[in-house]
Amino acid sequence: MTFNELNIISPILKALDAEGYKNPTPIQEQAIPILLAGRDLLGCAQTGTGKTAAFAIPILQLLDSRHAERNHRHIKVLILTPTRELAIQINESFAAYGRNLRLKHTVIFGGVPQGAQVQTLQRGIDILIATPGRLLDLMSQGYISLKDLEIFVLDEADRMLDMGFIHDVKKVVAKLPSKRQTLFFSATMPTEIQKLANTILVNPEKVEVTPASTTAETITQSVYYVDKKDKRQLLEYILKDPKITMALVFTRTKHGADKVVKDLHKANVTAEAIHGNKSQNARQRALSNFKEGRIRVLVATDIAARGIDVDSLSHVINYEIPEVPETYVHRIGRTGRAGASGIAVSFCDEEERQDFRNILKLTAQQIPVIDNHPYPSSFSGKVIINPPKNKDIVHRPNAVSGSGGPVRHRPGVGRSYNKR
Ligand code: AMP
Repeated sequence: MTFNELNIISPILKALDAEGYKNPTPIQEQAIPILLAGRDLLGCAQTGTGKTAAFAIPILQLLDSRHAERNHRHIKVLILTPTRELAIQINESFAAYGRNLRLKHTVIFGGVPQGAQVQTLQRGIDILIATPGRLLDLMSQGYISLKDLEIFVLDEADRMLDMGFIHDVKKVVAKLPSKRQTLFFSATMPTEIQKLANTILVNPEKVEVTPASTTAETITQSVYYVDKKDKRQLLEYILKDPKITMALVFTRTKHGADKVVKDLHKANVTAEAIHGNKSQNARQRALSNFKEGRIRVLVATDIAARGIDVDSLSHVINYEIPEVPETYVHRIGRTGRAGASGIAVSFCDEEERQDFRNILKLTAQQIPVIDNHPYPSSFSGKVIINPPKNKDIVHRPNAVSGSGGPVRHRPGVGRSYNKR
């Protein structure tokens, strides 16, 4: 399948070519015809599947065909997304795919002064990408009217729920014209999200690409069982591999992220942290330093990293195991994007074993254990062998060498599996 076969107009085809996109991803193949036909869409897809282009391309095409006259600009499309990083990236995608069209788009989010955003809005725009808080703020001040809205996109609905934005989302929806096209994306479909989808979509087509519990096949995963106190050394050890040119490291807390950065600096590894306590500017700076190769490691908390889109990110390292198993899927989805290969490594200490078991259950897969490494765990290391669908929990002794001395880890050697 080619984009041409999806009847994409030539200015967009040229832009996609400039982006280096050869073929549509599965979600694009499925969603683009539905959206071009004006239908509502329920998309069950995580980031990394190409979902932004799956909605941005048809939206640009629909607007271009409907609005030849552009004397009076008003907001025709609203994309609501939970984080600023995601909002910025969606805006960049519209800029990329719409570069040969004359449609105007902008992005608004909180945490920065509103002046510049208001000025851009006042010049007139066609497509607005927004986070909920700032959108409601500017609406209540009268700077934004959505009365002429034609298309509404709710992105990452499950994350909106996690972050406590559902009430805000409902407030925004209440202000939208009832005659509109609605696109609803969520990586997972908990009951509350399903209910919300039912209330805002009309006779939607459903598109599901990667169920939330599955991880991209292009990602090679492994786990190291390690004592908490040794995680720092293990990270430095792993980063000795020069093949790791870009690594996104996840911690559970902001404080933890700062601590990892400090430790890496001591080990002469370039690193910066990105989390909610950093100013918007600092976060953007860190992200662009990372994207442009000025730093090798970006350390992030889950919320800050949501939607971070770094082409060619080769490694994701879970320095701490997330409590919510779906978060694992989101984290490692930052690598192995759009068919590229990626590596996801997890450090699991004694206290985190239950969380790791939950991940194995959710993803219903085997994750190889790397047990030949210089920092073997001291805990007795019972790891669950058969998490999915097995009532008899079987344990496997941790495959620690027992020698106590450093054992050189050779990739692919000393692996065992959490297997059936
Ligand atoms: P998303 O799921 O929207 O976060 O997109 C994931 C990544 O895939 C982004 O870096 C996109 O630039 C890239 N991408 C999206 N569509 C395609 C495509 N058809 N071919 C190659 N890369 C793509």
